[in-house]
Amino acid sequence: MGLVSAKEMLEKARKEGYAVGQFNINNLEWTKAVLVAAQELKSPVILGVSEGAAKYMTGFDTVVGMVEGMLKNLNITVPVALHLDHGSFDAAKACIEAGFSSVMFDGSHYSIEENIQKTTEIIAYANERGISVEAEVGSIGGEEDGVVGAGEVADVNECKMIADLGVSMLAAGIGNIHGKYPANWTGLRLDVLKNIQDATGNMPLVLHGGTGIPNEMVTEAITLGVSKINVNTECQLTFTAAVRVYFEEKKDLEGKGYDPRKVIKPGYDAIMATVTEKMELFGSVNKA
Ligand SMILES: [Zn+2]
Repeated sequence: MGLVSAKEMLEKARKEGYAVGQFNINNLEWTKAVLVAAQELKSPVILGVSEGAAKYMTGFDTVVGMVEGMLKNLNITVPVALHLDHGSFDAAKACIEAGFSSVMFDGSHYSIEENIQKTTEIIAYANERGISVEAEVGSIGGEEDGVVGAGEVADVNECKMIADLGVSMLAAGIGNIHGKYPANWTGLRLDVLKNIQDATGNMPLVLHGGTGIPNEMVTEAITLGVSKINVNTECQLTFTAAVRVYFEEKKDLEGKGYDPRKVIKPGYDAIMATVTEKMELFGSVNKA
């Protein structure tokens, strides 16, 4: 199966009360680990690509080529969406042209008027091509690819205004942040999430900054309409920790342990384990 829009998979998730994981990818091994885990667990999956990660992988065309090649060569049959994460206006358009099946246009740093105007334009461009669109209201805290958000709590009326434009999914700040959560973090504003759900009806909601939110809070957020959860930092942490052990145990000095494929293997296994754990928590296993 080729790439699919995230729209149908998220509407199904919203209806059946689970969430689909968006796992950000950084390289070939990362992508392979996420796809193999999704296929083994018969789970739909969204591959997230930030502009920075795309640039690292040499550009949007390379990402599309790599992912499409893997879907074919690995015989992936579960629904897979390739999604631009926190895209600028220009990047969202470029991704649609390059063959992404889903884009996030993050206009949260603009005024609500400008966010509405730009989001409307992206939706029109995407809809003609069957591409799903994620919009954001209220910036998500922390730093992602140089974009620093203060962690605002989204305004419910603004959420409704953006949802009504015809987006496929809506990200709203509810005290969640990117990266590691500080020790004094007070938790998700589930009361605000409930109000957003009431205002936006059946709109699939997106939870960014999925690393470090307590499991029971994640489960509760899913019951309140969260249908897509973004995981990035956690895979980075487990990948790096596993590769560190490889060097600490001096495995690189044994036989052909210097082979880069062997060096990265523990990291690959760690990503698979993290993705598996998240898909089980989100309830997307056997939902493909
Ligand atoms: Zn995010």
